[in-house]
Amino acid sequence: MPVSFNPPVRTLMGPGPSDVHPRILEALSRPTIGHLDPMFVDMMDEVKKLIQYAYQTDNELTIPVSAPGSAGMETCFVNLVEPGDTVIVCQNGVFGGRMKENVERAGGSAVMVMDDWGKPVDLAKLEQALDSHPEASIVAFVHAETSTGAQSDAKSIWELAHRHDCLVIADCVTSLAGIPVKVDEWGLDAVYSGTQKCLSCTPGLSPVSFSERAIDKIKNRQQRVQSWFLDLNLVMGYWGQGAKRAYHHTAPVNALYALHESLVMLRDEGLENSWHRHQRQHNALKAGFNAMGIDFLVEESARLPQLNSVMIPDGVDDALVRSRLLNEFNLEIGAGLGEFAGRVWRIGLMGHSARAENVLFCLTALEAVLGDLNAPIKRGVAIAAAQSVYSS
Ligand code: PLP
Repeated sequence: MPVSFNPPVRTLMGPGPSDVHPRILEALSRPTIGHLDPMFVDMMDEVKKLIQYAYQTDNELTIPVSAPGSAGMETCFVNLVEPGDTVIVCQNGVFGGRMKENVERAGGSAVMVMDDWGKPVDLAKLEQALDSHPEASIVAFVHAETSTGAQSDAKSIWELAHRHDCLVIADCVTSLAGIPVKVDEWGLDAVYSGTQKCLSCTPGLSPVSFSERAIDKIKNRQQRVQSWFLDLNLVMGYWGQGAKRAYHHTAPVNALYALHESLVMLRDEGLENSWHRHQRQHNALKAGFNAMGIDFLVEESARLPQLNSVMIPDGVDDALVRSRLLNEFNLEIGAGLGEFAGRVWRIGLMGHSARAENVLFCLTALEAVLGDLNAPIKRGVAIAAAQSVYSS
């Protein structure tokens, strides 16, 4: 006989979801009202404005898709790619591979620019692909590769793409609010993110934004978007201004309260302060790991502060450590993926998880488990090293 589900309180320091701020959990439990209630409609307008702030854009078409980051990704591809289109996809981890799938399922052909996992997108290779494929109309890339912790140079990618008259689709699922994402300044045409990473919110919504150039392309499509739910021509009617709103689907009312709250918190903190907080916590975590003798996978210049891939010490059983952290410390960290499975741990410092108490707790718990397993690490130095960052 099933009973109520009561999950334990975990500290979430994997690749997402990250810790949800209590204010956001409280917002989620406020009374549900109708999704066309005038008060709710006013709140939707605020959500749009707050997402514009997070993305640093004036794009009118800036909304949360009522589904997780993958639906934001799919929204970009099904609306912008038409059968026969050529799309240059930069892949340096898991999520570029999903972009390829999306292009092909939308009837386009994907030209892949492949980079080693853990490296940023190589601009020279991208330029070569653009020169060899003048028919390409879109460039797609992952700004912050959650599978490795590498960030790519969004502004330079846009400059190259724009010179070749291509639209740019950028995956900002892990970057938004953790590192600068400047949609207008960088000229990104279609971006999507997720609520469960640096926004400190529950999973399940995907903030997206589209430039005028992207909207032109969508409005002038030869063929209908094959997905009814994600067709922006229809969704625009629902997320249009105030009274003009027409029913499209029932909005996830309470999830939108939560997103609204998380964005209000972001605005109160200030975007730049949020970026600095992520960097500072990363610096402390890095000092702790360096002191222990544990290296990072990604070179410093491309390293994401919010997703730290660290090398597993020799001879250490990856799965055993992660399960001991979970069971003995209620601490979740992430496993490596692909060629890095069993070789790295992915430690998230995203949103509400990017706090000193999480950094110090993670270093303490990991050192306790690794010490117990006689792993080749230096003991008794990590916390002091992290603390020296906080006191500097
Ligand atoms: N893109 C990136 C870079 C991600 O990290 C993720 C999820 O971790 C996604 C897309 C897909 O998002 P979701 O799992 O919310 O569907």
